[in-house]
Amino acid sequence: MLGGIEAGGTKINCALGSSPDQILASKAFATTDPADTFQQVCTFFDTAQASHGRIAAIGVAAFGPVDTDPGSPSYGTVLRTPKQGWSGASWVDALRRFRCPVVVDSDVNGAALAEWQRGAGKDLRTLAYVTVGTGIGAGILQNGRSLFGTGHYEMGHIYPPHDYESDPFPGRCPFHKDCLEGLASGPAIIDRWGLNLSEMPSGHAAFALQASYLAHLAATITLTHMPDRLIFGGSVMKAPGLHERLRVATRMLLAGYLSAGPATGDLADYIVPPALGDLAGITGALAMAEAHVGDAHTRRLN
Ligand code: ZN
Repeated sequence: MLGGIEAGGTKINCALGSSPDQILASKAFATTDPADTFQQVCTFFDTAQASHGRIAAIGVAAFGPVDTDPGSPSYGTVLRTPKQGWSGASWVDALRRFRCPVVVDSDVNGAALAEWQRGAGKDLRTLAYVTVGTGIGAGILQNGRSLFGTGHYEMGHIYPPHDYESDPFPGRCPFHKDCLEGLASGPAIIDRWGLNLSEMPSGHAAFALQASYLAHLAATITLTHMPDRLIFGGSVMKAPGLHERLRVATRMLLAGYLSAGPATGDLADYIVPPALGDLAGITGALAMAEAHVGDAHTRRLN
């Protein structure tokens, strides 16, 4: 059996499956403090294991920042975060009692892996996955392996140009204020307009503004990684028409500079929603586990 945890900033999804797309038991609950959250996670796996069989590996697709360096003594530990109580909390320690490999990667890298194996990025050489929800994150896979430097990428915190005249909202990132996440995450949209994007009429100015901010990330990823495809998922991307607007805004920024390759034309096959929809995250966590069944030690995807 495989264990999967999709740990988001507001919600934790746990699943037990015989394979990434054969989920036999699952449960979702709110992300609270680590002690309570870890206890709920362990209770779920205890019960699921008793009904379906022993867990051979657990994959954690976790909100960041989290230590994903397999050589690090603090592998699987949440790094400095404004999220109350979570700095220093360790997924590996919390799950040690299951006595199986525990693989920890960022939530976006997990979702990207699921989409690469069985969704909108099937077998592509370079796949980028962006999530726009409580936070904004991006991951890049090359031949199914997540790229990283000294840590997982933090592309949600780039600074798009911010015109205070047309958008007086100061931003809400506790570190940078008006970085991309501070300006265009789900909570930023609610702070600015009082509503979710999907609750606003399609002609609302919020759509154009949102698309223009996100286009800076799309163009940056395009120019720095030249991926075959860019998947944009997460709760904010469910707003009808946002992908279309994002394609138009990204084309404007690229300004015809690229003359060949997938990031040309109308971008309809380039900037796409996740084919697995809401299942991308948990499927990715289970796929991470599957890749590490039989491992002696906890390791990352690579
Ligand atoms: Zn920031």
